[in-house]
Amino acid sequence: MKCCEQCRAKMMDEALICPHCGRAQELSLDKPYDFMSFGWGVLGFLIPLVGLILFYILKDSSPLKAKSVGIGALIGAVLYVIVYIILCVVVYLL
Ligand SMILES: [Zn+2]
Repeated sequence: MKCCEQCRAKMMDEALICPHCGRAQELSLDKPYDFMSFGWGVLGFLIPLVGLILFYILKDSSPLKAKSVGIGALIGAVLYVIVYIILCVVVYLL
């Protein structure tokens, strides 16, 4: 939630016009640019540990980036475990 610059009425963060007094609101620049990103997901996927750390660092300031990197890290970690198990089985059988 943010407040109207003129009447201090509470409104949605995305609101461009105050629903109370009709004053146009400036785009808030205090929020860092946040977006879902494939690149962050790939980073998390390739290095799950870094992805996990980034997830905790970003989850408050950039929740969408954190989500991307978190999902990537999760998929990467699960895949590494599966590959590890397969390798163990293969080594055991040979
Ligand atoms: Zn207002």
